[in-house]
Amino acid sequence: MAFATHQARTVTEILVLNVYRQPALFPLVVGLLYYLGAWVGVHYAALESGIVVLWPPNAVLLAALLSQPRSRWWLFVLVVMAAEVAADISVFSLFHALLFGTINIAECVLAASLIRWFLDRNLDWSEPKDLSLFLITVFFIASPLAALGGASIYFFLLERDTPFLTLWRLWWVGDATGLIILTPFLHMIFSSGLLKQAVNSNWRVRLELVAAWVIGLIVCYLIFMFDLASEDYLALSPLAVVVAPAWVAVRFGPFAGYPLATAVAMFVAFASASGVGPFVGEPQDHSALLTQEFIIIFTVLLLFVAAFVDQNRRKSGELKKALVKVQHLNQELEERVQQRTQELSDANQQLQALALTDELTGIPNRRRMRVLGEEEARRSERSGRPFSVMLMDIDHFKQVNDQHGHAVGDECLKAFVRAISPSLRSIDRFGRWGGEEFMIVVPDSDHVDLLSLSEKVLECTRDIVVDVDNQKVGFTVSIGVAEWHHATFDKLVSEADDALYRAKAKGRDRVEINLRGLRVTE
Ligand code: GH3
Ligand code: MG
Ligand code: MG
Repeated sequence: MAFATHQARTVTEILVLNVYRQPALFPLVVGLLYYLGAWVGVHYAALESGIVVLWPPNAVLLAALLSQPRSRWWLFVLVVMAAEVAADISVFSLFHALLFGTINIAECVLAASLIRWFLDRNLDWSEPKDLSLFLITVFFIASPLAALGGASIYFFLLERDTPFLTLWRLWWVGDATGLIILTPFLHMIFSSGLLKQAVNSNWRVRLELVAAWVIGLIVCYLIFMFDLASEDYLALSPLAVVVAPAWVAVRFGPFAGYPLATAVAMFVAFASASGVGPFVGEPQDHSALLTQEFIIIFTVLLLFVAAFVDQNRRKSGELKKALVKVQHLNQELEERVQQRTQELSDANQQLQALALTDELTGIPNRRRMRVLGEEEARRSERSGRPFSVMLMDIDHFKQVNDQHGHAVGDECLKAFVRAISPSLRSIDRFGRWGGEEFMIVVPDSDHVDLLSLSEKVLECTRDIVVDVDNQKVGFTVSIGVAEWHHATFDKLVSEADDALYRAKAKGRDRVEINLRGLRVTE
């Protein structure tokens, strides 16, 4: 089923959209339509007196010229001249037919040239500006000028019964009506936009269009095909014919609205021409004018309404798109700012961590230990519970460096940190105080705890063996401890340093404790 629909669509597209617009075929199609237009104009749009309510063929030529590059216009001019002669030859002489053809062609070429000259692009029926240009060119320039020629031929060469001005006015408005009613519709078909849209629309749109067409044509029928005197006449205002085309134009834009508007206008013109409908009366040229005024005003109004609605729709569509884009950009920007902020804070944290960590061993550096120690001093001040500071200095480290090199010295420092760390609680703060000096801030501890901890440290250090090129390197450490006694952290450090000095002096690889001035030895 889907396949069949697809096939049908492709066939329609090829037949309707493409074939007739083939470069070789199109001029012939235009010639044929021109001839048909003239025939319809003579047989269906003319009153008994010969007044033509609406002259269709010129719209065929103008729409064709507007849809083609200027370099191809001559083709259409030739074909249309032949069609004009073919249409006129039964009524007029070849000479007159050629004159009428020239006037009609000149009218269309003038209108198309002016529009091209002002616009320099394809005419867009959903642009109010383009519409105005088209209407002014057609109604006020091309038609009256051509009518001047047409009326002259009639008046000076054919008959002098009708006053020149009347001939002029009848020709002018008849031509203008045909051009205004039919050119947009034909141009939309020739530029393929109209049919492409019709083929591409979905079934809901098609259903609504069909409904509008049915209602529109029924309304036309009710208003224009009933005799005013008849009892069946519904006394509907002619204005009611506006409703259906306006509905379609507002809902779906000019491309959809215009065919129905054209159909309604043609209906009205044909009804008046065949002597039915509310505009019929005497004199005949008045009834023609009333019809022409009505369908021109109706068509122009509809064209503008459709164009403005479409313009608004396009603009609000663009606005919506722009808004979505702005929101998108905003969101992107916010995300980027958030990301950058996160990166910055990460970098900051890293930097901070780096600034407070010893590069070689990865434990807190002197600056960090000072902060931690001062914090601990404040805490003890608040709680009254003591804490201790333990300073450790590796013995004869210079010798290690001298004998094995600085790199081995570094390995020893790392090995020392690895060896000591497991003996500590999570609340103990172990850091590098500088060089080969280390510190432990031990919260909630007294000198008894410290003695046993120091013992552990001394033992662990003695067990350290650093393997360098099959050479085993070992070392010892000396420890100085100070217990808190409402002193500042700096004071405690200097007491621990004193104790350490004593430990060194007493032979190293031992601990000395400074207990509020009291000296405690291992
Ligand atoms: P003492 O037992 O009296 O402490 O003797 P010592 O040799 O350890 O004496 P001192 O404290 O004066 O020497 C410390 C040495 O530690 C000097 C320095 O070259 C070395 N040192 C300091 N920082 C580092 C380091 O980061 N890596 C290495 N490999 N050696 C260091
Ligand atoms: Mg030292
Ligand atoms: Mg040392």
